[in-house]
Amino acid sequence: MSFRKKACRIVALLAAFVLVSMTPAAVSNFTASAKSLDEMIKESEQLKKQAEQLKKKIEQQEKNLKNTQQYINTLSDQIKNCTAQIDLLMSRIEKMESNISQVQSEISVKENEIQNKRSELESKFQQLRLRLRTLSKTGNFTTLQMLLNTDSYSDYLIKYEIMKRIAENDKKLMDELEAELAEINSEKEKLEQKKADLQSQRDEVEKLKKESESKKKELENLSAKKKSEVQKLSSDIKSNENKYKSTYDEYLKLEEQIQRIINESQSSGNYAGYMFWPVPAVRNISSFYGPRWGRLHKGIDIANGSVPIYGQNIVAAASGTVIYANSTNSWGGGYGYHVIIDHGLDSKGRKISTLYAHCSKVFVKVGDKVIGGKTVIALAGNTGDVTGPHLHFEVRVNGVAVDPIANGYIKW
Ligand SMILES: [Zn+2]
Repeated sequence: MSFRKKACRIVALLAAFVLVSMTPAAVSNFTASAKSLDEMIKESEQLKKQAEQLKKKIEQQEKNLKNTQQYINTLSDQIKNCTAQIDLLMSRIEKMESNISQVQSEISVKENEIQNKRSELESKFQQLRLRLRTLSKTGNFTTLQMLLNTDSYSDYLIKYEIMKRIAENDKKLMDELEAELAEINSEKEKLEQKKADLQSQRDEVEKLKKESESKKKELENLSAKKKSEVQKLSSDIKSNENKYKSTYDEYLKLEEQIQRIINESQSSGNYAGYMFWPVPAVRNISSFYGPRWGRLHKGIDIANGSVPIYGQNIVAAASGTVIYANSTNSWGGGYGYHVIIDHGLDSKGRKISTLYAHCSKVFVKVGDKVIGGKTVIALAGNTGDVTGPHLHFEVRVNGVAVDPIANGYIKW
C-alpha cells in the first residue's frame, strides 16, 4: 500500500522537523508530557492496534470487493453467453420465417393456379352446357329425336358421330381439368402442412428465445445488485481508509512524541561504544530487524535455541540509566513488561538507548543505574503480544529504532 510509504515519509519529515526546529517552549512541553510517558505509550499502542484492526478490516473488505467483482465478471460472461444464444435463436427464427414466407408464396402460386383451373373448368362447363342447349333447341338432343329429325341415315350417322365426339371430347377435357385441379389441391395441402410444421418449429424456437431472454434479464438484475454492492464496499473501504489514515497519523504523532521524550530525558554520561549480548545464556535469534508482516520489526527476537529462553537473565546491554520500566501492565501496549535504558551520547553526540520487551519479571525502576553486561534488569518471558517466549531487543539512536546487528551495536 502506498499509504505505508507515505507514513514512512511522515516519520522522516517529523524526525527532521524535531531535530531542526526544537524551541525552548517545545522542550518544556516535552518535560511536562514526559511525566505521562507510560500513559502515552499505552495510548500510542492502543492507536496502533486500532489502526491495525482497521487495516485488517480494509483488507477483508478489499477481499470481499475482489470476490464480488469476480462474481460480476462471471455474471457478465453468462450474460454474454445468453446474448449469443438469443442472437443464434433469432437468426434461426429469421431463417424459419423466410422459409415460411417462401412456402406461403408457393401456396399463393398454387392458389392462383387453382383459381385459374377452376375458372377454366367453369368456362368449359358453360361451353358444354351451351352446346347441349343448342342441340336441345334444334331437337337433336336424344338419339331417338335425332333419328326422327334426320332425313337420311347417313345424315343421322354423321350427326350421331359428331355428337358422340363432342360429348367424349368435352368429358375428357373436364376429366383432365378435374384431375389437374385435384393435383394442385393436394400440392397446396402439402404446402399448408409444411407451413404448419415450420410455424410450430418457429414457435418452439421462439419459446427458447423467450426463456433465454428471461434468464438474461435475471442475470442482469443480479449483476446490477452486485454492482451496487461493489459501490457500497468501495465507499466503505474509502471511509475506512480515511479512518485508518487519521488513526495511523495519530499513532505516528504519539510514537514521535515518545521518541522525543527519550531524546529529552536527562542523558547520563557517554555511551561506551559497545554492547553486551543481552541474554548471556541464549544466543539464538528467531527474527531479525526489518520488514515483517507488512510492518517494520524494530528489533531482534532472541528465542529458544538449544537452551530454553523463559526465565533466563536479561542483562543491560551497556551501562546507563533506566528511563522507563513497566512491571505492572502485562500487556504493555504489546511489549509486555519492558525496560528502556539510556546509555548516554555516542561519539557523534547521538543519544543511544536500548529496549527489552516481553519480560516475565522486571528488577529495575526508573532512575536506576545499570552496568553493561552485569546488571540483571529482568527475566525473559512471554508477556504482551507474543506467540512464544522471547526477548524483543531494540537499539534506538536518538529515539529511532535501528538494526542492532547491521549497525554493529551488537555482535552475533
Ligand atoms: Zn520482536
